[in-house]
Amino acid sequence: MITIKDKTFVPFITSEAIQERIQELAEQINQAYAGKTPLIVVVLNGAFLFAADLAKRLTIPCEITFLRVSSYKGTESTGQLKEILGLTESVANRDLIVVEDIVDTGKTLCDIRDQLQAQGPSSLAIATLLFKPEALQKPIDLQYVGFEIENKFVLGYGLDYDGLGRNTPDILVLE
Ligand code: 5GP
Repeated sequence: MITIKDKTFVPFITSEAIQERIQELAEQINQAYAGKTPLIVVVLNGAFLFAADLAKRLTIPCEITFLRVSSYKGTESTGQLKEILGLTESVANRDLIVVEDIVDTGKTLCDIRDQLQAQGPSSLAIATLLFKPEALQKPIDLQYVGFEIENKFVLGYGLDYDGLGRNTPDILVLE
């Protein structure tokens, strides 16, 4: 159990369970991408530990790059769009695997996916460690999902609460 500021978080997914599941996902990716050289696109900050542990288990040749998303307000008609920042590689004609920490409403990943698709990759798959199906508001195909979880706030293993808690090896849930 840990307390951060005014919130208490209790154990949820152990480090061992996370590592076992990542091994399974890596094996699926190794099979699916045999003979290819995918470009792994890591969504910072939350996916940094997941991406590192996943990448260490990939036996296929791959490149790894990083992006961030930034929220900005559009006009009333365009609504809010999350803009991709910091991606320097060309994704055209590449097999992309976007690595995300958690899919909640799905809005972030939809925006990322649409902006990457517009650049003409050969393929685009999504790997997310966590997925909250009950919270999903925008339909999105997720090829590699670590754990489906209920709609509660989680922290640890890359995920933060107010900037803290990213460094815990386990995932905890708000009490
Ligand atoms: P979405 O656009 O799918 O609603 O939100 C995705 C982003 O919201 C994630 O990348 C993550 O940064 C944040 N997020 C969503 N749910 C949680 C959660 O339970 N815990 C933490 N720490 N962040 C979350």
